Amino acid sequence: MGFVFVEICATYHTRVWSFDCKGFKVLADKESALEKPVSAAPGPGNIPAALHAREEERLKELYRLEILDTPPEPRFDRITALVADVFDVPISLISFIDRDRQWFKSACGFGGTGTPREEAFCAHAILEPELLVIPDAGQDPRFQHNPQVQGIPHIRFYAGAVLKAENGLPLGTLCLIDTSPRTFDHRQRQQLLQFARIVEAEIKQDISDAQSRVRYQISAHLDPLTGFFNYAEFGNRFQAMRAAEQQPAADHPHWCLAVMVKLPQLEFIRRHYGLDTFQGVLGPVSQILARTLREYGAIFGRHERGSLIAVMPARQLDPEDIARQIQTNLEKDTRIPPVIPTLNIQIGISPDAGNLEETLYQCQVAIEDIADDTGVNVSCFSDQDRIKLKRASQISLSLIDAIKRDELLLNYQPKVEVATGMLVGMEALLRWNHPVMGTVSPLEIVQAARSSDLVVWLDNWVMEAAIWQLSEWSQTGCALRPLSVNLSGDSLQDVNLLSRVRQWLKDYQVDASLLQFEVLESALLTDMEDVIQLLEELVGMGITIALDDFGTEYSSLRYLQRLPIDTLKIDRSFVREIVENQEDAMLAFGIISIAHDLGVKVVAEGVETREQFVILRSFKCDSIQGHVFSRTLTADQMLDLMRQGYRFPDPIRG
Ligand code: C2E
Ligand code: CA
Ligand code: CA
Repeated sequence: MGFVFVEICATYHTRVWSFDCKGFKVLADKESALEKPVSAAPGPGNIPAALHAREEERLKELYRLEILDTPPEPRFDRITALVADVFDVPISLISFIDRDRQWFKSACGFGGTGTPREEAFCAHAILEPELLVIPDAGQDPRFQHNPQVQGIPHIRFYAGAVLKAENGLPLGTLCLIDTSPRTFDHRQRQQLLQFARIVEAEIKQDISDAQSRVRYQISAHLDPLTGFFNYAEFGNRFQAMRAAEQQPAADHPHWCLAVMVKLPQLEFIRRHYGLDTFQGVLGPVSQILARTLREYGAIFGRHERGSLIAVMPARQLDPEDIARQIQTNLEKDTRIPPVIPTLNIQIGISPDAGNLEETLYQCQVAIEDIADDTGVNVSCFSDQDRIKLKRASQISLSLIDAIKRDELLLNYQPKVEVATGMLVGMEALLRWNHPVMGTVSPLEIVQAARSSDLVVWLDNWVMEAAIWQLSEWSQTGCALRPLSVNLSGDSLQDVNLLSRVRQWLKDYQVDASLLQFEVLESALLTDMEDVIQLLEELVGMGITIALDDFGTEYSSLRYLQRLPIDTLKIDRSFVREIVENQEDAMLAFGIISIAHDLGVKVVAEGVETREQFVILRSFKCDSIQGHVFSRTLTADQMLDLMRQGYRFPDPIRG
């Protein structure tokens, strides 16, 4: 067994560390030999870059983006600002190499929108497979006579990571410039490449937006990618269909049948394989759905990004039969791009539930019953689902009583330092043992609180309970570890939060540094300036802030720099991807090193296996919270751990 882990570890090391200086050089030589550049005439004193071997094709790709000469955009400017800060350089650029010029989409620390192509370092960089680093342009014969070196901005150091189109052709670079010579180590190279991938993802988003915009102009009611109705129009058609259908008969109490088709990998596919592959998946699936259900008089719509919906008159239809047909046809006919090994499709079918929202919610509830998440799976809204929904509404109703009856409680899960195995903190997790309903999961509780507008109230209960527990523990005289509490977005909008927390800390005589709040990225997006101010005040009191569930979106990186956060928690789903997907592993590695550069600690969540542990350790992740070390514990069990100043056994050596 041990051998297997060593091997996995070694594989990742090879992949991650393969871009060392030497390896890079070799790769560069090999690729340039394959694509022989066409030479260009050198200018006086300056040596311009050769043209790319597939220059015309390259330019076509660039023009297809329609990005040249567009106005500056904050999302790109934030990246260059962050990059300049992370690498501590005065200038960072997103540069595209046009036929005769380089043009800057974003230029941090540099005035002007571009330079002639023959002066562009980036024109040299795009001939490299990944990256061009010039430690000292003053000493490099290719650049020492370049006007950008001789005059303003007096470039000495340059590092440019190539930005590529989806077909791999280079478009430009994300580059760093300094006015003094510098060295650029392996880790920095990796980080710059990670940032370049983020820029590429943003650029791809642009094309999808541009294409959508064009097609939207053709029809305001249709989803551009599938040709189905958009959600607003689907709602209108739904009402019209309902009005046209006769009253349901006694033996057929429902007038319609709704189908929801979810493609959970779709966002991932867009991010990793690009828009063509994304469409190569969404197109065939929507066509097969339409072909299967059209004969029943169905209307079709696009719901959220990754889901399609259809509604048809119920008449004599048997939901199970419809389910089988959709499943068979999707399994038989879906031709997906070969890069995707298996396409997972989840289908939920439900009769109407009054209005459209609730009907679709029932489809969603049916989908949640699907246990196997690979391949095509169908589930019909069942009596059991009805019971589940009833339970949710019961939970909502009895939440307040739960507090009065003292049924809610907190459990605690250790956070363990990777390097030492020491307990370094813990997270408070809500538990509820209902006398009739049994164990209610925290997600059910939070959901119930949300539907009865009790979120802030629940958060307050948890905060006070956590602070009380800290004071109880401290009275035993043992050395405490910081305790984190999950705080929902609503509480961050609560004007009384600060004064309440201050009062509790005072009343229970608890040191603020023992308290950490875990907040979600989504909670920061509304009224960001106000939220940042609130977080800063909390930090001013001595409380630390962790960004929870990180890794489901790239975009979060942009905020890191602005937020007063102490810790970043990598989401459980991302931890799983780290083992299964090499690109996500690289991204995680980049995120961890960038976080460290910004002075932010990283905790990985939901780490269950030794493989995951080994990879995260090699990425220098600071701490781990997960079953590989410990499940959640009661307050007494946690106290025992702290009393012993507990050191967990190494998951590999035992
Ligand atoms: P979360 O904040 O991401 O909490 C971590 C969840 O991952 C916990 O689930 C924890 O038990 C689980 N977990 C930790 N390690 C592992 C592992 O190795 N494998 C697996 N499969 N799971 C692991 P839990 O306690 O069920 O909580 C679920 C979610 O409910 C939390 O996710 C959080 O979003 C919410 N929640 C829990 N307690 C509270 C609370 O007091 N307030 C609020 N607002 N939300 C809470
Ligand atoms: Ca959490
Ligand atoms: Ca989390």
